[in-house]
Formats: sequence, structure tokens, C-alpha cells
Amino acid sequence: MGLDYHALLNPSQAAAVMQIEGPCMIIAGAGSGKTRVLTYRIANLLEQQVNPFNILALTFTNKAAKEMRARIEKVVGPEAKNLWMGTFHSVFARILRSEADKIGYPRSFTIYDTQDSKTLIGQILKELELDDKMYKPNMVLSRISGAKNKLISVQQYLNDPVIKQDDEAAMRPKLGVIYQQYANRCFKAGAMDFDDLLYQTNVLFKDHPDVLNKYQNMFRYVMVDEYQDTNYSQYLIARKLAAKERNICVVGDDAQSIYAFRGADIQNILNFEKDYPELQVFKLEQNYRSTQNIVKAANSVIKNNQAQLRKDVFSDNEEGPLIEVFKASSDNEEGKLVAQSIYEDKMNQHLSYDNFAILYRTNAQSRAMEESLRKLGIKYKIVGGLSFYQRKEIKDLVAYLRLTVNPNDEQALRRVINYPKRGIGDTTLAKLINAAEEANHTIWEVVSNADKFLPTRTANPIVDFSEKIKAYTTVAAKEDAFEAAKFIAKNSGMIEELYSDKSIEGLSRYENIQELLNGIKAFVEDPEREDKTLGSFLQDIALVTDSDLKDAAQEGEQVTMMTIHSAKGLEFRNVYIVGLEENLFPSQMMITSRADLEEERRLFYVAITRAEKKLTLSYATSRYQWGNLRSCEKSRFLDEIDPKYVDFKFSSGPGPDRAGPGESPFGHVFERRSNLVPPPPRKTVATKYVAPADFVPSDTSKLEAGQRVEHPKFGFGKVTSLETVQGSTKAIIQFEEVGEKTLLLSFAKLRVH
Ligand code: ATP
Ligand code: MG
Repeated sequence: MGLDYHALLNPSQAAAVMQIEGPCMIIAGAGSGKTRVLTYRIANLLEQQVNPFNILALTFTNKAAKEMRARIEKVVGPEAKNLWMGTFHSVFARILRSEADKIGYPRSFTIYDTQDSKTLIGQILKELELDDKMYKPNMVLSRISGAKNKLISVQQYLNDPVIKQDDEAAMRPKLGVIYQQYANRCFKAGAMDFDDLLYQTNVLFKDHPDVLNKYQNMFRYVMVDEYQDTNYSQYLIARKLAAKERNICVVGDDAQSIYAFRGADIQNILNFEKDYPELQVFKLEQNYRSTQNIVKAANSVIKNNQAQLRKDVFSDNEEGPLIEVFKASSDNEEGKLVAQSIYEDKMNQHLSYDNFAILYRTNAQSRAMEESLRKLGIKYKIVGGLSFYQRKEIKDLVAYLRLTVNPNDEQALRRVINYPKRGIGDTTLAKLINAAEEANHTIWEVVSNADKFLPTRTANPIVDFSEKIKAYTTVAAKEDAFEAAKFIAKNSGMIEELYSDKSIEGLSRYENIQELLNGIKAFVEDPEREDKTLGSFLQDIALVTDSDLKDAAQEGEQVTMMTIHSAKGLEFRNVYIVGLEENLFPSQMMITSRADLEEERRLFYVAITRAEKKLTLSYATSRYQWGNLRSCEKSRFLDEIDPKYVDFKFSSGPGPDRAGPGESPFGHVFERRSNLVPPPPRKTVATKYVAPADFVPSDTSKLEAGQRVEHPKFGFGKVTSLETVQGSTKAIIQFEEVGEKTLLLSFAKLRVH
């Protein structure tokens, strides 16, 4: 066989693929084919008769590894199955399994997930009689994780005067002792947490040169994708493995380094040059993914970073449409605009929902998007996260709400009877359940009369709990769903519990709760709702969550939604980046220094460069925060994009910057007017129609097939058919000048003749 690499790759890419001996580094811009080079490099090695067992390729996600393997398999056949390919964590977990006994672990060691680790830390705090408000398990865990990723052992931690000083200054002098206990307990339990998978691999290679030697001989070729986001622990593993053969190839982009908060260290790129003086460096400058406008816009943004290696990324692809900016009056409106735009692009350009991705800075933002997509019957999947109502904290608060409406709801009761912690242990709960069964009562009946079933000391916290729920029921009977939910969130202690957790995950949970309340506020303010009670809200979301599950089970076309962090390395035809507002993106929590701001900007760069053909940015001028409407300022990042590449006119909502007829997004979602964009041949027959200055849309609620209509942009046409999906009516209209279009009546401005 033999691939023609020169036909598949440009000269620099081909050179990197052919250069198989010795260290090499490709530091290049987004979409320039770094991952493609790695893929063909492996294919080339296999073609050169290198045994697949001798090749190790480390990717950033398991999904990336799977895709790469599939592509290689297409080229070289089933041999590709034997490649060592995966994330650092998955590959070294596998190696640790076969070598575990050398470092004192059983081969069947358990891998603790974050929840297991936190529970263990909670127990240790109790034993050490430390306050878990001061030593929040999340915070402790991230401190331990940080130490492990820098390969700081327990002994080093305890003996390091600088660390000691730091912890004392932070009023947390016992962190070292907790780390020690935690490490001991994990070890005794035969368990490793995620960071141990890398930490212990380093220990294994350091203490057992024979083992290292074995893997050095085995992995004759080492490759690392997304190298800019490796931490010290990963860097060292790669360096050790490659120390003998020195056949290591790393690819990355310093402009896409977005995991500093988890210990990723850009120094690893600089170190790499020092470690291998004979290093071959390849530069790739041509972006094959995106249109020229997208690439140029991305360049104009990243230029604002000082700590960036200068790169000249260009695209030879079509110029493409300008980047659209949606200005919405609220987050719900933003969701509507995005959903609407997706729907219409899909219909009018005959795309699949798989072509679309919505990217956001924080998970909580998915709610408004999810709601709008559902309203238009658009299926979606959330990558790397749960759908909003499946998230733990949302389920917790919803459990309180359910209990308020129906105290007999056993699942809800079990979920929150001891959350936030109020000293009702599992044994007590078991006693309650027993008592209920024996007396043939519901658990609630026992709970609300706990003093009759249990000794006073045990009964007290339960009585308190039941009093709380009773009070909530009273509030909910008087107030609307929003007021009731706000009261419950606060009074239950959930808000405080989440607020005091300052870790990244804690912050995200806190934001989600706030977002749930925002959703309830929107519910009670919806003029079409008559019943604004908590019960009615719960019924509403019960249906939502149910159909969600069904949808998720269904295969087929889906819009992808995810945080920008999860989108690294991926590409989509049409991309929406939402929530471009100051304090949201760049995130308020993250910009205490220039370095932080630069990381946020790199994140924006990553987001922009995911788009192939069309990029849309959006922001809202107001957003609910704890149910209060707050006005928002548009993100500074929007102003950093060279205006040449942006169509700012495309903004919605009332206000002075809304131009005359035809300028509103509702009428304009089909094609952008732009003198830079050559009209696509089929679609844009230049219209001779000019909307009259006095164009006023009519009421279309009684529109029927066969009627003649006028649209401010498309001119005159005849309604072919009407169809209502989930409450929104769409009209298929045959326009005289531009042909058939599908319009959503609630958005389209039409005059009926
Ligand atoms: P990122 O920085 O986002 O990880 P990357 O540098 O890894 O991007 P790839 O994903 O490898 O870039 O490539 C981007 C897109 O361009 C892919 O669809 C890839 O197949 C395509 N591509 C890259 N090089 C070429 C080429 N020489 N000819 C045709 N298509 C190419
Ligand atoms: Mg890549």
C-alpha cells in the first residue's frame, strides 16, 4: 500500500510526518493540522513496519484517542487496535495495574473518583476534629491535587518551610497533616485517586529503574497531543519514557493553554527545548479548519495577549460570512435567538443538527439554551456534563421543593434529610424507615413525629427538619413559586453550603442554583401562566426532565452543547459562543490578574477556532441574578475582534441601535448582508424588492396556506403550508424572488395581503 503523504499534507506537515527519529515539536496555531500530523505520523510508523505495541500516543480526551485510532485503522487496518493510545490517566492506570505490587498496591487497586476522595477527606477532618467550614473538602482536595501534580510528596510537603508559611498564612496549618492521613488511608484501602495515577507512575519509574527500562524499550515512539496543557507530573512521565530512544514528538499551541488552574504549565514547552538540544521544530501556519474571517478574527483577539509566542496563522479557505453578533435583551431571549438561528440555518441550508455547537463559559448557562432548544423541538446533547436538571445540586434543591409540595415523597426526603449535614446519620435513617414499616406509616409520618419513635437526642435534628418542611409548605401556599423557592434555598442552608465552597466545582454548583432560581423567576413572570405555584412549576419540570431522558436515549442528529474547556481539539461547522458579557466571559472569578485575563482570552481563542464555516457570538443586556434583573455590559472580548470581521448590526431587542425594518434578527436570520461575502450561487438571487418605509408587520395568528404575504427582506410570496411543532408555528413560503423559505411565525415579520 503506502500513503501519498504529500497529497494529504502540506510540505511542513509532511516533513513532520516523515521525521520519525529523534525529538520533534510542533507548536502551531489552531486548526493547522497538528492532530492530523500525529495521526499520519503513526500511520507512517506502522507503514515503516514499526510494531504498534511500540507506539504510545497520549491524547487529551478518550474521545480524541478513539477518533484517532479509527482514522488510523482506516489507513492501516486492524493493526491499529494494538497501538497504545489514550489519555495519560487511562494509559498509566493500565500500566500501574500490571506493576502495582512493586509499589505496594494490589493489582486490583480501586480508583477513587472525586466524590470518594471528598468523603474520605470528610472522615479525616472529623477524626482530626477540624472544622469542615475552614477545611472545605473540595479545597483540601485541590490543594492535595496541586501538590501531587507537582510531585510534592507528603514528606516534602510537611518539611517545606514555604508551604508551611503559605498554609499558616491561609489559616490552614493542618493541610499537611490531612495530606498525610489522606495518602495513608488511600494506600491502606488499596486505592488511588486520579492524581495518583500520574503521581504513582512517577514513583514507580523513579524507584524501579528496571521497570522504567522495560517501558523505555517498549515505547520506542512517544507522541503527545495538546502538549500545552500537560502538568509537571505528565511532563516528567513523557520525558522519562523517551529518555532512551529520544523519539518523542509533542504537538501543541501555547495560545490554547487553558488549564493553568489545574496545574498545566506552559513551561513544559520551554523545558522541552532545553531537554532536547537536538530538537527539530516544525511550524504550521495554515489553518485548514476555518474560513478566513474566522481565522483573522481569532488572530486579532489573541494579539492582545503579551505572553504569547507570535504566530502567523492564515487560511486559504473561502472568506466566509462575517461573524454575527446577537445582542439579546435577556438570557432567555439569547437562548431564543440562538435556537431560532440554528433551526433556520438547518432548514434553509439543509444541514444536520450535528453541524451545530453551542459553547459557553460556565455550565449554568446551559439552562436558558436547553429550554429554548426544547421549545423548538431541537434535540441536543451536553458533552462532558449533565443536562441541567440532572445535576446534583439541582436535584437537591428540587428535592426540597418536591418535599414542600408533597412531604410524603420518600425519594426526595431521603435525598435531603441530612443535606446540608444536620447530624442525621444512616443508622438513624434506617431506624426511621424501620419504624415506618412496622407502624405502617409513611416515612414522613414518622419523621414529623420523630420524638415518639426515637430518644430525644436523636429525635431533635429530625424534628427540626420536619418543622422546616412544614414551614416551607406554609410559605408555598401563600407565595408564588419563585418566592417560595428562594426562601427554601436559603433557609435549608443550601445556599450557604454552596457559597462557602470556593473551589471551581463549588462555584459552578452555586451558579447552577442561582440559575434554577432564575428559571423559576422566568416561569412566574410568564404572562401566559395562570398557575404560578410551586406545584405547577414542579409539574412543568417533571415533564421536561422526563422527556430529556427519552431524548438522550435516542440516537440521531443533535446539537452539541458544552463548556469551552471541553471543546478543545474539536470542530463544528457552525458554532455559537454565548454569554459574551463582562464578568461572565471573561469570568469575574478568574480575572484578578493579567495572567488570569490572558487565560480567559486564550479560552475565547479556543472557542472561536472551533468553527469551520460560521461563527455567531451572543450576549444579553440583562440577566437574572437571584431572580433580580441585572443589566450586563458586553464583553471586552467583543471589542477586541477587529471590526472588519464582525457584523455588529445584527442585534435584537428594543433600543436605539435597532435599525429600521429588516434589521431585526427576526427577519434576518437567513443570510447576512455583507459586501465582503460573495453571494452563494443558489441561494442569494439578488432581490430587487425593497421594503416600503412604512412596512408594518401584521398579525399572523390566523395565517392560512395559500395566502399572499410580504416580508421586509424576501419580498412577496405565497404560503405553501403551515405546521405547528410544540407550540411554535412555522410557515413554508414560496417567495417570488428568493424561492422557498421556512420561517417561524413568532419571529418573522410578515405583512398579510
Ligand atoms: P487544534 O489546535 O484545534 O487542536 P489542530 O492543529 O490539531 O487543531 P486538526 O484538527 O489536525 O488541527 O486539523 C483541523 C482540520 O483541518 C481537520 O479537519 C483536518 O482534517 C484538516 N486539515 C489539516 N491539514 C490538512 C491538509 N493538509 N489538507 C486538508 N485538510 C487538512
Ligand atoms: Mg488538535
